[in-house]
Amino acid sequence: MKISSSIFCRSFKYKFPSKYKIKFLPKTPSLRIIKKNLVYIIKNNDKYYWAILRCPCGCKNVISLSLSDSKDLYWTLSVTDYGYPTLTPSIKQIKGCYSHFYLKNGDIVWC
Ligand SMILES: [Zn+2]
Repeated sequence: MKISSSIFCRSFKYKFPSKYKIKFLPKTPSLRIIKKNLVYIIKNNDKYYWAILRCPCGCKNVISLSLSDSKDLYWTLSVTDYGYPTLTPSIKQIKGCYSHFYLKNGDIVWC
């Protein structure tokens, strides 16, 4: 997955205006059960491994992001007191829908 950030990013709400929340799981769930507006965090022994979410554009693709810094490419997760996640850097689909967005405090911010 290629990452790029742009200073020209605009913020607007798209098809799913409700916020994303997180759900912690010990292992990767069946991809069929992945709900929109939920980011599944695979966590074991207090270590984060993966963040899994459905693409917010509505294409139904499931996006898996490594949270483990043992990988060359990984994302950093932070969570507000209300359970709203932020993932940095931005998330970009390099095939299919080519969506490019940030997840900030549970909101999708399109680039
Ligand atoms: Zn998509």
